[in-house]
Amino acid sequence: MSGDDWLDLSPSPTQGDLMSVRTTPVLVVGGSLSGLCTALFLSRHGLDVTLAERHPGTSIHPRTPGYNARTLELFRAAGVEDAVRAAGPWALDGTGLLWAESLTSPNHRWLRPPNARGAQADYSDVSPADDAILSQDVLEPVLREHAEALGADLLFGTELVAFANDPGGVTAVLADRATGARTEVEAGYLVAADGADSAIRDRLKIDRHGPGVLENVAAIMVRADLGDALRGKRFVIGQVSNPGFSGMVRVVGDRISLHVRYRPADGDAADLFPAARCVELARAATGIPGLDVEVLDVTPWQTTAAVADRFADGRVFLVGDAAHVMPPAGAYGGNTGIHDAANLAWKLAYVSRGWAGPALLDGYDAERRPIAEITMNQAVATRTAWFGRANPSGTPETELLDEVSLLFGYRYPPPGTDGPLVEDPRRPGGEPGSRVPHVWLEIGGERLSTVDLWARGMVLLAGAEGGGWARAADAVARARGLPLTGHVIGDVIGGDAIDVEGRWPEMSGTSPEGATLVRPDGFIAWRTSDPAGPDAHAVLAGVLARTLDAP
Ligand SMILES: Cc1cc2nc3c(=O)[nH]c(=O)nc-3n(C[C@H](O)[C@H](O)[C@H](O)COP(=O)(O)OP(=O)(O)OC[C@H]3O[C@@H](n4cnc5c(N)ncnc54)[C@H](O)[C@@H]3O)c2cc1C
Repeated sequence: MSGDDWLDLSPSPTQGDLMSVRTTPVLVVGGSLSGLCTALFLSRHGLDVTLAERHPGTSIHPRTPGYNARTLELFRAAGVEDAVRAAGPWALDGTGLLWAESLTSPNHRWLRPPNARGAQADYSDVSPADDAILSQDVLEPVLREHAEALGADLLFGTELVAFANDPGGVTAVLADRATGARTEVEAGYLVAADGADSAIRDRLKIDRHGPGVLENVAAIMVRADLGDALRGKRFVIGQVSNPGFSGMVRVVGDRISLHVRYRPADGDAADLFPAARCVELARAATGIPGLDVEVLDVTPWQTTAAVADRFADGRVFLVGDAAHVMPPAGAYGGNTGIHDAANLAWKLAYVSRGWAGPALLDGYDAERRPIAEITMNQAVATRTAWFGRANPSGTPETELLDEVSLLFGYRYPPPGTDGPLVEDPRRPGGEPGSRVPHVWLEIGGERLSTVDLWARGMVLLAGAEGGGWARAADAVARARGLPLTGHVIGDVIGGDAIDVEGRWPEMSGTSPEGATLVRPDGFIAWRTSDPAGPDAHAVLAGVLARTLDAP
């Protein structure tokens, strides 16, 4: 590799002795939400993965509290939902969005903004899953443990310092932050999960577009024992307003996170928010004048809305905040990164394992970028609708979508088609590009949803009289060594997958003789209402060749 090919992330990236060399199909850089989920999903698809995270462990900051039900669907399929629930999500009161004069003031109410789901949202008609409210510092160890149990090689305390993005592969230099030891990694692909300030994105000269910086915020973390002063109020975000404090408050155990807006023209956050002022702000926000407060951290933070101009460059793919950032209103940011990971992981796994051709990976940018743009615009509009915040001039007006459609109805229209990017999942079309509609099935005595099946590979769901398609799927799977399973959805006699509520014909939009092919991320690749003829094997082989860019 010539020196010119390297893209450096640190001042002395390629200096020092290389201690070792290793190879991996996929190197993930960044071990927070998006990186850990990418590693977990890749491992579920049976692919070896190496992850490098510069911090010695998972995030110690509570950050993202809200994981939406679509994310929990992905966790179900990846086998971590039970562990996430066991980690202790909080139950919420009201909408979970508190407006209060102070956290202890009787003068408070639950914000009921337009399009908010509310804490008691019921998705049972569209999903087997539900939201979960828990802190990122509680979730990440669960993701880490499961990814490692599946064989992912997670290197904490390890930093990417340089990489070269060549047509044949990515070469990366990792540095152990404790010892300085360097390792050269030969990777098939590099996933940049290195956050909003992604140095990888920067070195690849990928710009971003969107409204940009919406506000500057000092994120103040303090420790204080509130005892039972909150009188059992359970909320995700408190919007507090009184003469001594105006801003957003979160309480996680004995830690209180205060977000206060400031103008950089007035000075640096560190100067504007010395410890004594932070103590006063915490007392005003809680409404407890003599509260014992320990200031832990003051971090300047920008609420930003921006999407990368492209999510891929050669063999490098951006996921999560590296690809898109959005305001916290609506809790879309971290969730969107997890959804990126699900879309990318199966593609990387199938290409790396030889089941698909490289053009399959082109679909990542084509499918995820439009959804990230819609979601970012919704987050900006939600911030205005919920908190009355103005946007920079030039920000386009966006009509708020109902959240059920945004969470479960986003689509990946196949190339050459112009279907909608968002549909109402309560009235699914069942067309290629849509998430497979949720229908309860009983398979081998196990109660599963159609949206639970992706982690087992591709799935062909045939109608009650479509057994020929299911047999063709099994035959193609055997012939190609492909993880593809055929099921016949019928009643107790007619199918191996029992349609518990008899909803499949209506939800799938296919005939009893037809079939629906579902990708390993739960999205529909193809469907037919035609009965399987003698050429069913050839028809299906052709569909798979097109879907997977495989010969
Ligand atoms: C106050 C607040 C509330 C929020 N609430 C929500 C919410 O309710 N729901 C929601 O969905 N989102 C929410 N978000 C957004 C969410 O926190 C982020 O979208 C999410 O953390 C992004 O995860 P990520 O893995 O993409 O990036 P990050 O969390 O930024 O992680 C990037 C990682 O990459 C590592 N890294 C960077 N460079 C290197 C390198 N060279 N080598 C090795 N490692 C490297 C970093 O150390 C870091 O761990 C909120 C954000 C804030 C600030």
